[in-house]
Amino acid sequence: MTLGICLPSSFSISPIPKTKGSITSSSIHRCFCRINSYDFVVVNKTNKKKLKPCKNYFLYSNSCDVKIPAAQIGAAELEDSTTKSGFKNLVWPSPDDEIPFWRREFPTWDVNSDDSVNAEKDSDLLHIVHATAEMAPIAKVGGLGDVVTGLARACITRGHKVDVMLPFYECIQRQHINNLVLISTYASYFNGDWIPTNAYRGEVSGISVIFIEPSNHFFKGQSVYGGSYNELEAYLFFSRACLEWMQVTGTQPDIIHVHEWQTGALPLLYWDMYQDLSLKKPRIVLTIHNMEHYGECSQEQLSKCGLDGSVYATEDKAVDDRTIGHNPERLSLLKGGIVYSNAVVTVSPTYLKETLCSGWLASTLLRNRDKQNRRYSGILNGIDSAMWNPATDVFLPAKFDAENFQGKNVCKHFVQRGLGLALEGTSSGSDRVPLVVCVTRLVAQKGLHLITHAIHRVDELGGQMVVLGRAPDGRVQREFENLANLYNQGSGIRILLMYSEELSHMLYAAADMVLVPSMYEPCGLAQMIGMRYGAIPVVRKTGGLADTVFDIDQGSQPELANGFVFEGIDQGSLNWALDRAFSSYREKPNEWATTLQKVMKVDNSWNKTAGQYIDLYNTLRVKW
Ligand code: ADP
Repeated sequence: MTLGICLPSSFSISPIPKTKGSITSSSIHRCFCRINSYDFVVVNKTNKKKLKPCKNYFLYSNSCDVKIPAAQIGAAELEDSTTKSGFKNLVWPSPDDEIPFWRREFPTWDVNSDDSVNAEKDSDLLHIVHATAEMAPIAKVGGLGDVVTGLARACITRGHKVDVMLPFYECIQRQHINNLVLISTYASYFNGDWIPTNAYRGEVSGISVIFIEPSNHFFKGQSVYGGSYNELEAYLFFSRACLEWMQVTGTQPDIIHVHEWQTGALPLLYWDMYQDLSLKKPRIVLTIHNMEHYGECSQEQLSKCGLDGSVYATEDKAVDDRTIGHNPERLSLLKGGIVYSNAVVTVSPTYLKETLCSGWLASTLLRNRDKQNRRYSGILNGIDSAMWNPATDVFLPAKFDAENFQGKNVCKHFVQRGLGLALEGTSSGSDRVPLVVCVTRLVAQKGLHLITHAIHRVDELGGQMVVLGRAPDGRVQREFENLANLYNQGSGIRILLMYSEELSHMLYAAADMVLVPSMYEPCGLAQMIGMRYGAIPVVRKTGGLADTVFDIDQGSQPELANGFVFEGIDQGSLNWALDRAFSSYREKPNEWATTLQKVMKVDNSWNKTAGQYIDLYNTLRVKW
């Protein structure tokens, strides 16, 4: 627990050892005088651990038993200025806090806190239903959740009717759903049984969500993925249960928008089963967020949702081409989805090209792209400009925008204090300490060896780095735990192996640089979010990263330059980009500030790109 005290006038300065550093006796006097007239947060007297002696300088009080390390004197100046500029209610965090700062209570997020509410409306309105395994923030694991929520909200803003259909995962926190009501009780087929199922409707971030809750064990557990049920079978059930719900309620949207392999069987079920029942109007769009997850499935498993699995075991349908001639051959739900959807989209133009040039699904994509009325397009993901807005973000200790980013310094300082990182104070030039963040799923795709190397390199360069990530693989988890044990005791690196939406917002706001060294990256949101929060991206040139980040030193179009880009997958390539970023931060602070302002103004919002989805939906819709 921390407490605020007013420093008594009896404070005096003890003899100050002469060592290198920029703090002089007179500057301490200045700081001392300043902090003297303000409340200053120090540790509880019974908890002196918090005041780690950082640089062997102390202010001693004659009258009370408190000492303040000099490293906090810069902090005092910042806190002084935060008091003056309206952040006076800020409770500075500490690593010893009983409740970590990212788990504090936060105000409710206002979905309308954004200019998009004034956006233009479309005239020809559609009804779109998303069938998805993820939705931010209630059931988010990675970018899929963000994309569904962001795109849905952008379409609603333009006047369209949008519903999201989501499994009612047991781990969803119901207090985040508004107006939750049971709307239908019905039965949906699975493996010879009709499973009693509830459909609820609720509102999440201003979006109507239909939650599908089967009475069996599917979707039970403490996380979105990795429950103790067969995931593939659960999503086969869910795909059919979405259509069954539309069938029993007579719901006929213009577009059913499916995502990833999890809902890849829905187009098969729609065209080969529900079209023969009463669903006639909807047309199907599939978005592929990551081609590597292809939904491997046996014929028997596919049959469990009521289709005849053997019918799909052909090259032109759903057989996984790599398994042809093997016993048994396997199916791919993603491939089936590609073949049976009216249009297929992937999440950036560069990833579109990459997927047509390599990978075993390339021939399927090409074949279906060339069929009449079939499309395969690359539409760049956006970010939700209300959910990711540093000027209104409820998780940030101080708000800021491109015109006034003093709040960003407060966020950096807040995170540094909360995580026990060294405080920067009033350093300049080569003493400036850039904070690099990397918020990511810790999987091979994300360039694990480069993330590990970056930790060493940033440490070597005298910077600070925070990795926030979760590793689904035990071996990777252990590797990063070892790194955490090695580094987390120091004052420069923090490796936090967990998922926290709240902390991710604070880290983007605190960061000077956001690192995305992916081996491949269909689109990538971290670099876009980072930019909006004033963190300059350092990225590998691949997929959507190549479409959104343009090198400051190398590019042929300086007006686009907004980050540091490298191409190789080796440590030297990463060093080349990171070192340039550090030099720029330290040696060219004015240019850095200009770039920071520029990247914050880049419009990567859904308001910019949702129109491409609407145009696509319109080309497919059947007027009824
Ligand atoms: P992917 O979809 O491959 O995971 P993206 O960059 O498209 O990668 O999106 C990742 C999203 O998930 C971003 O919003 C990022 O901030 C978030 N994220 C990833 N890991 C974590 C984590 N450990 N805690 C909080 N947010 C995370």
